[in-house]
Amino acid sequence: MPTLEVRGLVKQLGDHRAVDGMSFTVEDGQFFVLLGPSGCGKTTTLRIVCGLEHPDAGEVVIGGRDVTSLPSRDRNLGMVFQEYGLYPSMDVFGNMAYGLQARGGVAKDEIERRIRAAADRLDLGPLLSSPITDLSGGEQQRVALGRAMVKDADAYLFDEPLSNLDPKLRYRLRRDILALHRDKGRPSVYVTHDQTEAFAMGDVVAVLANGRVQQIGPPDELAERPANVFVAGFVGSPPMNLLPARLRPVNGAYVAHGPDGSDTALPLPPAWSDTLSRYGKEQVTVGIRPDALVPAADGDAAISGEVTDVEPLIGETVVRLRTAGRMMAAIFRAGEEGSLAPGDSVRLDVAPEGLRLFDHDSEQALM
Ligand code: ATP
Repeated sequence: MPTLEVRGLVKQLGDHRAVDGMSFTVEDGQFFVLLGPSGCGKTTTLRIVCGLEHPDAGEVVIGGRDVTSLPSRDRNLGMVFQEYGLYPSMDVFGNMAYGLQARGGVAKDEIERRIRAAADRLDLGPLLSSPITDLSGGEQQRVALGRAMVKDADAYLFDEPLSNLDPKLRYRLRRDILALHRDKGRPSVYVTHDQTEAFAMGDVVAVLANGRVQQIGPPDELAERPANVFVAGFVGSPPMNLLPARLRPVNGAYVAHGPDGSDTALPLPPAWSDTLSRYGKEQVTVGIRPDALVPAADGDAAISGEVTDVEPLIGETVVRLRTAGRMMAAIFRAGEEGSLAPGDSVRLDVAPEGLRLFDHDSEQALM
């Protein structure tokens, strides 16, 4: 089965280690997304997988075959990049046919049949004999997608293929890319810095930073169980609030003291007590998902602050607040924010399911 494996890749570019021990496995039929901020090594990793860069260390294995030393053309990959990479001197048909003709082994009428099927699928039928230079950006990217679609590749690679397109086209092409992927049933690796895209498309998402994998998992798991402070602060819009606090035992359970920078105590779930009693350290980073902050009922509130900004979105409202020592963000369901406005005081409680703890020094998740 053509699984795609990347094992211990390292790549030094100038004096920068762009890829620093990258490993992951993409199963057959899996849509695997590499997500991370600009400069984290996504593109370099993909260029190594497709043979445009050679790694300083590590291997790329596709379908059990070590392809690390093979040139790109011998890896049998379908590739779609941000710059469409089309031949401007050819028409749409010529561009879609080129890879198949160059590789040989596919009969002329079979090439034609595949191109017509891909063109129908991508609404390119009427454009097959148009020069590439007459096409819009969205049409050109559909041609690039069609070119990948007509191949029977062992794996498909996508490097930010939608970032030059407007949002409506992007949405449509996402569906086209996933349809291509499902048709082929091969491993796909998709690079993006856009988490909406990553989460909408990926069966599995790898979050990268500094040339390394920070966490690999299905989208829900990354949002709900971030493995470390980096992932917690990267995933979500707005992402998790990350607040230094001190652990204190109180009546057999634990509280996090002062996550809002004041003298408040945030009760931690009693189920955590056993683990925390063995933990032995006091200083932690508390993670509070913005959607776990809810307006407090009367009495003591875990978090108090002053509203700085109210941003209505579709179905929800982002409320930003300044507490005694920090800035925080809360997501309220539409209407829940009432008449809150900048300058108002707010008092918030935390729904325990949206609460996480990280070791202050290693930044790894504790709970
Ligand atoms: P982006 O989303 O901005 O494309 P990326 O995650 O794809 O970023 P890469 O393009 O893989 O990141 O680059 C990784 C790092 O390597 C970046 O910090 C980049 O500046 C650096 N880099 C890339 N090419 C070179 C080079 N030729 N010489 C030195 N450094 C380089």
